Amino acid sequence: VRKKWVIGNWKMFTTAATAKQLAADVVKGVGGDDRVGVGLCPPFPYLPIVAEAVRGSPVELGAQDCYCEKEGAFTGEVSPWMLADIGCLFTLVGHSERRHKLGESDDIINRKVRAALDAGLYVVLCVGETLTQREAKRQESVLLFQFDAGLSGVTAEALKRVVLAYEPVWAIGTGKNATAEQAQEVHHHLRRRAAVLFGAEVAEKLPFLYGGSVKPDNAHALLTQPDIDGGLIGGASLKAADFLAIVKAGLP
Ligand code: PEP
Repeated sequence: VRKKWVIGNWKMFTTAATAKQLAADVVKGVGGDDRVGVGLCPPFPYLPIVAEAVRGSPVELGAQDCYCEKEGAFTGEVSPWMLADIGCLFTLVGHSERRHKLGESDDIINRKVRAALDAGLYVVLCVGETLTQREAKRQESVLLFQFDAGLSGVTAEALKRVVLAYEPVWAIGTGKNATAEQAQEVHHHLRRRAAVLFGAEVAEKLPFLYGGSVKPDNAHALLTQPDIDGGLIGGASLKAADFLAIVKAGLP
């Protein structure tokens, strides 16, 4: 069975002081229990603060994004090698806010995925359809396209450090979550695609997280689906009690 993961995406929230406190509260709540993997993605400037807070605990550190080059004249960008250097285990790539608000293409997302993997990081690759695409019943083709494009050039060996996150754009920060059945159906479908591209054995091990308005009261229904291996949590990750309740919902 695949281990469940619950990852908090703090987006562009917190201050140095509240980031430190929130991380400390999560570390305290998790204690030594590593049955559910827990990860925190603070904003870039607070990564070292949160790295310090999670040191020695099972809570892992991740970034919200990275650039696709090791180093160079790329003002304002952050290299995945730098993230690895300061203790990040993983980075998100292709979050829908970056796709839709910052205009990131599938091509740049793929380059970021490959760079982060080259840097030795784990990658949480986010895919998701918009409301218009779902209403036009185009979600399947959109998701398959994002999946194939995002993982283009990734080997079956490197795929062992990839986690997929299905985040329907219409569910992120809107309070409208996909139903457990809707999310399960998509995950199952993408896992079948992974089997075609990478082989059944690798696909079976690939973790699929659901993201989009996961809250303590809907977490259990979502996280107990056979192909849902955890959650990527935005809003509810900013309150330690809510986030920890979601982690608890992932317990075996
Ligand atoms: C996210 O930011 O990845 C997310 C799923 O946000 P929310 O939980 O707030 O919908």
